Amino acid sequence: MGKRYYCDYCEKTMVAAPAIVRTHNNGIVHQKLVQEHYQQFKDPETILLEESSKRPCSRFANGTCQFGNICRYSHYNREQLDALRRYVESKNFNKSILTQPSFEELYNKLQNEKSLQTEQNDGNTVAVDKNGITHVFPWTYNPIFDSYGDNLPPSIKRLKIEDFENASITEWG
Ligand SMILES: [Zn+2]
Ligand SMILES: [Zn+2]
Repeated sequence: MGKRYYCDYCEKTMVAAPAIVRTHNNGIVHQKLVQEHYQQFKDPETILLEESSKRPCSRFANGTCQFGNICRYSHYNREQLDALRRYVESKNFNKSILTQPSFEELYNKLQNEKSLQTEQNDGNTVAVDKNGITHVFPWTYNPIFDSYGDNLPPSIKRLKIEDFENASITEWG
């Protein structure tokens, strides 16, 4: 008995003569099985790209195409291609969601920034008068000057709400 060649794709044993193996490898049945084997490892993106560049196979529509996955025409119909396209799109969409911060993360970030801002404003520009009305001044103070007490020039002195009580507002103009 001579050497035997076993084809994994076709699960077929044959005489291990180069001519016989070559003929087998070029045969439609073998190529179809090889294609089917690799088709299952292909990305949906690749299949979509390949199949949408082919013209539809009219023989396959009649059920008379013998070429299977090695047919140069597409065996996918419009609906199948559309479904594949939607699948690829939703896959990419989910991917982009995963790499972006979630809504919750964005919301928390915004809240943190907001509370930081109000903390900065507190004590600097907000004063409450004895009627309980909050006044927000459109300026800020440098806290360093607080340690100088009343010895500061009026322009950088922190104004207290009492400073406004006896103020006589003169109309200008
Ligand atoms: Zn084979
Ligand atoms: Zn075909």
